[in-house]
Amino acid sequence: MPRRKNLMKQKRIAKDRIILLLRMADDIVREDPHLAERYGDIARRLSLRTRVRLPEEYSWRYCKRCKKLMFPGVNAVIRSRSRRYPHMVIKCLRCGYINRRPYIREKSLKKSVQKPSRL
Ligand SMILES: [Zn+2]
Repeated sequence: MPRRKNLMKQKRIAKDRIILLLRMADDIVREDPHLAERYGDIARRLSLRTRVRLPEEYSWRYCKRCKKLMFPGVNAVIRSRSRRYPHMVIKCLRCGYINRRPYIREKSLKKSVQKPSRL
């Protein structure tokens, strides 16, 4: 099936580009936050269009409300909370939305590996 092979190739290229864009965004954010934000947008659109998942270490960096890439220390604040369940609170300073991301303790890591991750 040459078509399928081609699709896989396209997805691989898309994934490489997404990672590259996100790294570039992180590198440039202090000098040019607007450009960094654009890189984030492009990476997100590429991910949606090609149906390539964003890498785990970046997927939580997008604000759930305004869909912009958040940069901790620049336009987002991160705190960790352990009430009820251990989670990180990521506040988007652009729209003020509070994003929550549970983090897994080493103890329960084994258990959660079998479950597909929500993000
Ligand atoms: Zn936001």
